Amino acid sequence: MTQPHDRIPATTPTEALAAPQASQTRVAVVGGSLTGATCALLLLRAGFPVTVYEAAPAAAPRGGGLIGLEHPALDVLDRLGIGQQEILAHPSETVREVTLRDRQPIHTARHQYPGRNTTWSLLHHALTRRLPDGVLRPGHRVTGLTAHGGRPHLLFANHRHAAADLVVFADGRTSTGRRLLDPARRLRYAGYVAHRGHTDHASPHLRDFLRLEPGPGCQYNVAPIPGGLDWTLYLTCAAADYTHYFGAPPHRRTFALPRHVSDTARALVDAHAALVLPAAHAATVHATTVRMAAPVMDIDAPTRMAWPIGAGWAALIGDALAPVRPHTGRGANNGIEQAAALTVALTQHHRWGADLATALDGWQRRQLPAAVTAVRQGPLLGAHLGTGS
Ligand SMILES: Cc1cc2nc3c(=O)[nH]c(=O)nc-3n(C[C@H](O)[C@H](O)[C@H](O)COP(=O)(O)OP(=O)(O)OC[C@H]3O[C@@H](n4cnc5c(N)ncnc54)[C@H](O)[C@@H]3O)c2cc1C
Repeated sequence: MTQPHDRIPATTPTEALAAPQASQTRVAVVGGSLTGATCALLLLRAGFPVTVYEAAPAAAPRGGGLIGLEHPALDVLDRLGIGQQEILAHPSETVREVTLRDRQPIHTARHQYPGRNTTWSLLHHALTRRLPDGVLRPGHRVTGLTAHGGRPHLLFANHRHAAADLVVFADGRTSTGRRLLDPARRLRYAGYVAHRGHTDHASPHLRDFLRLEPGPGCQYNVAPIPGGLDWTLYLTCAAADYTHYFGAPPHRRTFALPRHVSDTARALVDAHAALVLPAAHAATVHATTVRMAAPVMDIDAPTRMAWPIGAGWAALIGDALAPVRPHTGRGANNGIEQAAALTVALTQHHRWGADLATALDGWQRRQLPAAVTAVRQGPLLGAHLGTGS
């Protein structure tokens, strides 16, 4: 039997005053992709009322390619009940880097990746299927943010509006939140494109992430995904050519979906693959029917992540804060880590009465360096590859 002195002492009225519960902070997350959906699930689990406003209609076709997640991001997902068996593209941790000359391998290096590969589609499905009914509001494009009655107020393209205590903008590379909160930071096209494709037949010889470096201005990555292969071919491309190939300039069409990929763009990629890749890989590219593309973009490094709006707050996370070049492998990792750290700060506020401004300031101070590092690393990696302008 438990003796009285073994029991955890009951909270005295004085201690209860020292650790008050802050009033419930209502959170609006803008953007229901990887960062926004992760943030919403973490905040819901921590007890916050959350609504996710997503511009894309529920039925809009969406999808994306291979994404490497490092251990901290995988651990966040694990804590949300998203185990690796549900999201892994392939189990290997090995990256093989092959230098090519005249389409033949002349040097191979191997290293281990401190994480695993998933795909945008696998991870997005795993996240969004866990959102309780009614949390995700598709077809809600945010166009403005004001302070109304002392609280942040979101305005939508469909003329609706909604109030919250904290607005978390996770609305991606062309973020409306960034335009409203930090308007001086504009996207700049880096002068090259990540052409992507999924094949629906796997190669029995390919188990790892394989990177081929044929020479300046070009890189090819290929890896297994469930039921096939995912590849990316980076090629230098003038902005005017991008517009011609994908129907809009790079800063407007930051993702070219399969329906945007013109026959001219397909022919260009096929011709380059034939010119620089070993025959088997060129054949993989040629056989790929589903293609996409993403122009590589730069932005000035962020200097802050949170802004007061009336008596409430607005914050930028993920690509909304800092879209980084794909070679850094940090975009989704940063978004997930920022979402997890934001949940910690808000929990300290809600559960233990921490001052919200101080908690958000601490969050920003801890998270900004990783975002700044990745923004600065991108052009260095691009220069090493000889890609872009
Ligand atoms: C070729 C390539 C390879 C990559 N590889 C890696 C990798 O290995 N590792 C890694 O960590 N990252 C990688 N990335 C980056 C990663 O894909 C992105 O960083 C990540 O997907 C960004 O997620 P997000 O949720 O922040 O933004 P997004 O995925 O862009 O989502 C933004 C969401 O907001 C919505 N939205 C936009 N505007 C509004 C609005 N006004 N109102 C409401 N909703 C709005 C959009 O519809 C979208 O759903 C790669 C990217 C590319 C292109």
